Amino acid sequence: MINLILFGPPGSGKGTQAAFIANKYNLLHISTGDLFRYELSNNTELGQRARAYMDQGMLVPDSLTIEMLKNKVLSHPDTDGYIFDGFPRTIPQAEALDTMLAEMNQSISALVALEVPDEEIVERILLRGQSSLRADDLNEEIIRKRISVYQAETSPVFEYYSLQNKSHSVSGLGTIEEITQRLSNLLDNML
Ligand code: ADP
Repeated sequence: MINLILFGPPGSGKGTQAAFIANKYNLLHISTGDLFRYELSNNTELGQRARAYMDQGMLVPDSLTIEMLKNKVLSHPDTDGYIFDGFPRTIPQAEALDTMLAEMNQSISALVALEVPDEEIVERILLRGQSSLRADDLNEEIIRKRISVYQAETSPVFEYYSLQNKSHSVSGLGTIEEITQRLSNLLDNML
């Protein structure tokens, strides 16, 4: 099995690229952001608990996030692998993911980070907000909050997988097709 983490700051294009990679390598695409938004739109108890954090640009607590992720993985055992998008976002999430995969006799194959400078991120997310209408995409202060949460809590996950020699990065600048090509080249050489 191939188990990938697509990593990078908010608005770096993870969702778009993960869909392509999932299709190419026949992996199940799991986006914790999408899973939370589904819970929100169905107004489930989990959605209600997650909303306040998401709208403010903060991370949903690890316990809720890890439980939701595990349910999703365990309910789809018949796949050639997983591509995780937006997860793990903290060191405890990375540890929980490694433990869960080990229990399934599996492991992370690689983490690939999309690199995009902060100013480009703010512009992209504000633009996306015009159509996504996501509360966390509409307000520049909240976007900057998400970037600072990424730097403080999420970027250490890159180092965590570097210690296992699994971390890689590519530039997230250019057209969607250019970035797709960069990711394909990297993954084809690696997998
Ligand atoms: P983006 O990467 O564009 O910020 P996502 O759709 O990945 O957007 O996530 C939106 C929000 O959902 C995050 O700001 C956070 O509140 C919540 N979220 C998503 N994934 C996680 C996670 N792994 N841990 C905690 N919170 C998460």
